[in-house]
Amino acid sequence: VAKNDGGNRARAFDPAMHAAAVERLRLEQELRVALRDGTIDIHLQPLVDLPTETPVSFEALVRWHLADSGMVPADRLIAMAEETGLIVPLGDHVLRRACDAMHRIRTEVGLPMSVAVNTSVIQLLQPAFVSTVLTTLAETNLPAEALVLEVTESLLLDEDGVALSALTALRHAGVGVSLDDFGTGYSSLSHLGTFPLDELKLDRRLVATANDSVAGAAVLGGIVRIAETIGLRVVAEGLEVAADAQRVRAAGVQLGQGWHFARPMPVEDAVAWLRARFPTARRGRHVADLAP
Ligand code: C2E
Ligand code: MG
Ligand code: MG
Ligand code: MG
Repeated sequence: VAKNDGGNRARAFDPAMHAAAVERLRLEQELRVALRDGTIDIHLQPLVDLPTETPVSFEALVRWHLADSGMVPADRLIAMAEETGLIVPLGDHVLRRACDAMHRIRTEVGLPMSVAVNTSVIQLLQPAFVSTVLTTLAETNLPAEALVLEVTESLLLDEDGVALSALTALRHAGVGVSLDDFGTGYSSLSHLGTFPLDELKLDRRLVATANDSVAGAAVLGGIVRIAETIGLRVVAEGLEVAADAQRVRAAGVQLGQGWHFARPMPVEDAVAWLRARFPTARRGRHVADLAP
């Protein structure tokens, strides 16, 4: 509202900014409704063992389809949810969907796989986060070892160490922790020695640099050796073509993820995709044999 106080003219009305604000408010309202109605879904994308190309786990990626405007890009949805605080119920919802899906894979397909769930630092800062995760695991009949939380270096903004203690507690319970998007933004090798981590997930851009230059390849190789020395599993993401997979494999990276192997897909399709690859996998008869 433009107003004149003390001769100090307020900002002029900006129609473009107004339209953006209205659009965001509309999206926020729709997100509240979607969370209530459970219409937000996940897709699953496999992580494969690079030498054998055997799928070993899946990453859960949020998917929100709007009837009138189509698919909302995940990073846009997450940014908006973080700004509005809706990331907490959204994160709970995704976690539940991911655990349900993994329980289904472990029982129906009979493979002892794990699922990785992207987790915002805002979720980690909630006092109830650890108990929410443990309760979700219990309610979905999933062992803690079947869950990996993917976190990013935005954790560093948490100066009180609240998020780090939550991760430490969950790791003690058996949940895995992966540092996502490594090699971008704030990346520092010093975090690797201090974060409670099991896995390092190399960003697509780091992998691309390794493809472009000898120096880039040396950086990749060095990071892989450091990770191995401190006992971290290494995943390369965004492997779009066979040559990407070959290069990271040559650098010693153990696990890969990307369109070369499979696109993110609905849970139903992921189950079918696995069954096509493991035609002799047990069909839910020997659940007790699965590694806990
Ligand atoms: P991310 O966790 O690094 O996920 C990998 C992104 O790369 C996904 O994008 C995936 O679809 C895409 N991708 C997979 N293979 C390839 C490939 O070969 N080439 C290329 N160019 N891209 C590939 P998506 O699904 O759009 O998600 C974007 C980001 O949104 C994620 O990046 C993650 O940071 C965030 N996100 C997604 N779902 C969730 C969620 O449930 N919670 C939170 N907190 N963040 C999420
Ligand atoms: Mg991720
Ligand atoms: Mg990533
Ligand atoms: Mg990410």
